[in-house]
Amino acid sequence: MQMSKLLLRWLTTTFCLLHVLGDRTIGAIFDDGTFLLEAAFNIALTAASEEQENPFVASVIRTPPGDILEAENAICTLLESNVFGVFGPTRKGSLLHIQSIADFLEIPHVITDPIETQNRNWSVVNLYPHHLSYSQIFADLIELKGWTEFTVIYEGAELLPFFDNILSMQDLDTGQKISINIVQLPDGEDFRTQLKFVKKSGSLNYIINCGIKILPMILEQAQQVGIMSDDHSYLIMNPDFQTIDIDPYRHGGSSITGIRMFDPTLEPIQEFIKSLNEKVAELSENSIENAIEENGLTLDLVLVYDAVTLFAATLNTMELEDGSNVTCDDAESWVYGSSIVNYARTMEVDGLSGIIKFDEDGFRSELEIDVLEIRTYGLDKVGTWTLEDGFVETKVDVSPAEQEGSESMKGKHFIVLTALSAPYGMLKESSKKLEGNDRYEGFGIEVIEELAKMNEFNYTFDIQEDGVYGSYNKKTKTWNGMMEKIMDGRADFAITDLTITAARQKAVDFTSPFMNLGITILYKKPTKEPPDLFSFISPFSMGVWGWLAGAFVGVSGLLFILGRLAPEEWQNPYPCIEEPETLDNQFTLANSFWFTLGSVLTQGSEIAPIAVSTRMAGSMWWFFTLIMVSSYTANLAAFLTVESKFYAIKSVNDLANNPYGITYGAKNGGATFSFFKESDNLLYQKMCLYMEEHPEYQTGSNDEGLERVKSNDENYAFLMESTSIEYMVERNCDVAQVGGLLDSKGYGIAMKKNSPYRQPMSESILQLQEQGKLTRMKDKWWKEKRGGGACADDDAGGGEAQPLVLANVGGVFIVLAAGSGMAVVCAFFEMVFDVWMISRKMKVSFREELIAELKFILSFSGDTKPVRHRESTGSGSGESKGGSDEKKEGDAECPVDDDDDDRPDPSPTPRSERSNHSRHTLQLSRRQSNAVQMAKMRKYSLKSAL
Ligand code: GLU
Repeated sequence: MQMSKLLLRWLTTTFCLLHVLGDRTIGAIFDDGTFLLEAAFNIALTAASEEQENPFVASVIRTPPGDILEAENAICTLLESNVFGVFGPTRKGSLLHIQSIADFLEIPHVITDPIETQNRNWSVVNLYPHHLSYSQIFADLIELKGWTEFTVIYEGAELLPFFDNILSMQDLDTGQKISINIVQLPDGEDFRTQLKFVKKSGSLNYIINCGIKILPMILEQAQQVGIMSDDHSYLIMNPDFQTIDIDPYRHGGSSITGIRMFDPTLEPIQEFIKSLNEKVAELSENSIENAIEENGLTLDLVLVYDAVTLFAATLNTMELEDGSNVTCDDAESWVYGSSIVNYARTMEVDGLSGIIKFDEDGFRSELEIDVLEIRTYGLDKVGTWTLEDGFVETKVDVSPAEQEGSESMKGKHFIVLTALSAPYGMLKESSKKLEGNDRYEGFGIEVIEELAKMNEFNYTFDIQEDGVYGSYNKKTKTWNGMMEKIMDGRADFAITDLTITAARQKAVDFTSPFMNLGITILYKKPTKEPPDLFSFISPFSMGVWGWLAGAFVGVSGLLFILGRLAPEEWQNPYPCIEEPETLDNQFTLANSFWFTLGSVLTQGSEIAPIAVSTRMAGSMWWFFTLIMVSSYTANLAAFLTVESKFYAIKSVNDLANNPYGITYGAKNGGATFSFFKESDNLLYQKMCLYMEEHPEYQTGSNDEGLERVKSNDENYAFLMESTSIEYMVERNCDVAQVGGLLDSKGYGIAMKKNSPYRQPMSESILQLQEQGKLTRMKDKWWKEKRGGGACADDDAGGGEAQPLVLANVGGVFIVLAAGSGMAVVCAFFEMVFDVWMISRKMKVSFREELIAELKFILSFSGDTKPVRHRESTGSGSGESKGGSDEKKEGDAECPVDDDDDDRPDPSPTPRSERSNHSRHTLQLSRRQSNAVQMAKMRKYSLKSAL
């Protein structure tokens, strides 16, 4: 009821206008539910009336959408006002009904709709391209793209005629079989089931014909079901393709092609849009609901404008004064109706949609269609299609790369994919509930923050829940993980410890690396070995010890020989005897060894070389010992204090040979595993084989690898990237990096292939590097945040001097004890030998002599020992103290002469004979004998003075 009242009011208004203005009235029935078509119609009429004596007058009736009866009423009403022709309506049912009335009454019916006017209606002029021409555009494009299979996706059955030439491609004898699937979309807004079905069919190319309203929904859902990657191609048949927001599909990797019939950037179009918005505001009493944006102009509005232009031009040319004079009740038709239609079909007018011209069948000719493609930087015109020439590629003046390079990131919003992999991306620890990007922190997060500041873009982080970075499956020829999402366009950038590899670089673009690293081994820290008891031997190698021993023996022997050769070494043993019968040589074999040993042990000896040759040999030996002892001392400290460690493996070679049954693996599907897989190094191939044979040693993440390394239940080494190892050993003091780097590579930010943002992002990363910001960030996230530096003290363990424990120096004690023990044994044997000699010489019982000797030794009394067997007394009983003294006197080299004879005794007891007396007294130390000599000399000088 409400509706009919409204309609009545409109009709009344229109009638009033008609009656007032009269003149050349052109009627229109618009059932689009907006004011847009009406506005376009009015603007066009106003423009056509300019400089005309008889201006055109609009008689517009708006009917409820799809209401056929109201449409019929409308045309009847319009006919009563002598219209020259009727425009609209747009709904197919109403339109066909009006068309039949107009046909009957031969009233020119001007339409702009995609309906198949196969039966050449005399009264219709349609500005919309004929469905065969239309389908030919896409048939040509399909051929150009070389599709051998594709799926036709369409919305309503009325659109099927527009596939005519496309579907008939199947039958063409092109030598190549083309397989075509057809899928009709249901009513409503959920097409996922159909799209999943399309995906399952394995089809990669799609041609879509649907209303402009549902087109974005279809594309979005296609993205969701995963049929919008690099491998997928789309042809969009809707001529308003240029009006949709293409941002979500720019980076998806799919080739999306569409068409347009006018260039919205041209000035007349822009002016038309402006006038449209003004007119709509006027008609809708300033409602901005229907206002159109710069690129929101749809083809129907342009065609209405063009249709009015054409119709007005026809009437002007025909100079017809009066409009139709028939009504709905008449059985007669209007005589001029068909003439106007025929005339219009011969006209050639320059319209907003190009040249408006018709072929002999009354269908639009001279069509010039722009072919567009969605690029990462926006919609790009790739060519033009005409009926005559088909598709002609547009010559590109500016290379796409240049266009891409100039693409600014400013103000754009990006989805940044990351993974929860410490320290690149982590969940923030907070007592408050965090939302959005605030939930994350880490090195990668901070890098993106910096890049966003530098390039003024916005971003939202998305998390790769399964932590899979992406590897290529050669069988299915697909990527997984983060790589797949980037290629699909589900994310614009990916940042984490994502390694730049050759395989990945083929599929996506990477920025310059923001971090450099290499593969190495994470393993338990080497265990400390107990100190070596004989570590005092370590400063010199066994070889050096051998050479030292050789030098000792050699130099000692040399001194012995030199001593015998050098005359000066033969000295008067009794300086008081001027002409001694014998000369002594201090360099006996024993003394030579004692001399060299004394100096090498830095203790010296009483022996002092006299001859030049012995002095020379001696000083050279001293120099030698000086250097050797200093070197030994310097090295000794290190060997005593440095802890020796047990390394089960020191390199990847050890791991491959696996002497201790160490199992090893890497992150599944990661760059490390790929490194071994791709390598042609035999060792790495062997390791790869091992890892492939033992999938149970692969891990899902680096953290899992760390846990397995730390676990006491298994002896596991994890092949990992050095930067991640650095992070872990800062916090886990029981693990360490083992060996050097096996390769050298970097982490980069991944984005779609040929992305225009690679250049600005790479430049910004280099700037961050040059400013030292990346280093600072690394120090912060590696060494400071989240428990960094926990193992710093462990590593600096050698900073303070550590006291040596017995274990360090125990060997020296052992040597001392062994030496002392040997000395005791020696002394014992010496004593027994001496007793044996005496017992033999003196013909006494060995046993008695031994017991007597032992008694004396064990009595520990006094430091003088009585001579038990004296040859001179012959009694063998002179065991008195006096006897001893007497012997001492007689032992004097310079005998004391009580007769004041200061000559020395001409026949001193020969040294050889002294052994016949007591060996004990003869073996006075040199020092003692010197003292005796000195005393005697003093006595002589006193006597001579007297
Ligand atoms: N950074 C590696 C990647 O990008 C993951 C860790 C690894 O493989 O060691 O796949």
